[in-house]
Amino acid sequence: MRAAPFFAPQPPYAMSAAGCWITDADGRKVFDCANNFFSLVHGHAFPPVIEALHKVLDDGTAFGLPTTSETSLAEAISARSPRLEQVRFTSSGTEAVMYAVKAARAITGRPMIAKFEGAYHGAYDHVEVSLDSTPMNWGDSSPKSVLYTKGTPVSTATEVLVLPYNEPETCRELIRAHHERLAAILVDPLASRVGMVPMDADVREVIQDCCNRYGILLVIDEVVSYRIGYHGAHATFGFEPDLVAMGKIIGGGLPVGAVAGPASHMAVFDHTKGKPAVSHGGTFSANPLSMTAGLAALQSYSMNAVARLNRMGDMLRSEITEQLRRRELPAQVTGMSSLFRLHLKTEVIRNYRTSFPSPVQKTALAKVHLAMLERGFLMTPNCSGALSTPMSKTDVQDLASALVDAIHETWKQSPWE
Ligand code: PMP
Repeated sequence: MRAAPFFAPQPPYAMSAAGCWITDADGRKVFDCANNFFSLVHGHAFPPVIEALHKVLDDGTAFGLPTTSETSLAEAISARSPRLEQVRFTSSGTEAVMYAVKAARAITGRPMIAKFEGAYHGAYDHVEVSLDSTPMNWGDSSPKSVLYTKGTPVSTATEVLVLPYNEPETCRELIRAHHERLAAILVDPLASRVGMVPMDADVREVIQDCCNRYGILLVIDEVVSYRIGYHGAHATFGFEPDLVAMGKIIGGGLPVGAVAGPASHMAVFDHTKGKPAVSHGGTFSANPLSMTAGLAALQSYSMNAVARLNRMGDMLRSEITEQLRRRELPAQVTGMSSLFRLHLKTEVIRNYRTSFPSPVQKTALAKVHLAMLERGFLMTPNCSGALSTPMSKTDVQDLASALVDAIHETWKQSPWE
């Protein structure tokens, strides 16, 4: 497991894991619904991934030369998503998004990007803008560009247009006003920190239309949401992206990222005719272990496997919703496919602002997280999670019941409304 944030009173230290279960340093087993921040679609130590890794491990781990493992994984991704004719690998989703943004700037000759308020896209300066804006600084219905990391140059904010999620008319107006300077609109159509609500069809139409009309590149961040459909999130949501950033499940549990798109756009990285418009490198990019694990994971994530996992996610969310209703608890679960997120509020969640927890709700969420851990279930610290293919229907029912119990217990101790 990746270095986990600190959970008071103490986080479990992972020692080993298999399938849905992690064993911690005290020999305790936890049922893992976080799956290394959504990256393990087949759970832990998935036998096809481990076997594939064993086969290549003795051959060396990094060559600085092309390998057939990278072309195989790239071909597998292209075969699932024909629009993604070319794929370039990185070591993280952060790098994938960063290269997509750089490519968009180079292709269009424009400096700005647009992103949605609250959306997380990794740690590149520009995409961090307005990641955690608050009612104190987020401005009126046209969101302000709020810097995230202390010390980030103020000029960064001026190069980022912040859009309100699921507000089509405001989006259209803001994009129209800035279109001459916009290189890209960066979209995660199921952005977790925006509330994990699927992007509405009318906003999707506005975004696609503005991109086509003004020559702005549409960059879809599928680092998390690639898993929602066999052909990727852009296909599920009906987008025609210019570039796609990927990560997480395409590495089969090892570090990975990728930027992909039509060959005409990917030509911006072409180094075979001298210095490219965008130089792309990375010491461990396309390392053979990540490529091998990723291919094994994708091969087992067949159309049937995707459909089954998506049905289980639907079941989970409807089970939680029903139990919350029966117990009259002021909470709701959002998400889509195999992804879910808990909110301790009943108002309809449409975007970052409506999902924004009050200080009391934030404290209560941390308590629910801990109450789940005490029941043997690991979620991400903000009470979101991802199902994995080894999970059974019974597992999903147990998860739903445990979560509602944890919410009930927290509500009785410290109500948040
Ligand atoms: N984009 C999204 C939507 C993400 O959720 C993340 C990571 N959680 C990233 C990009 C960055 O990926 P990484 O952590 O691999 O750098």
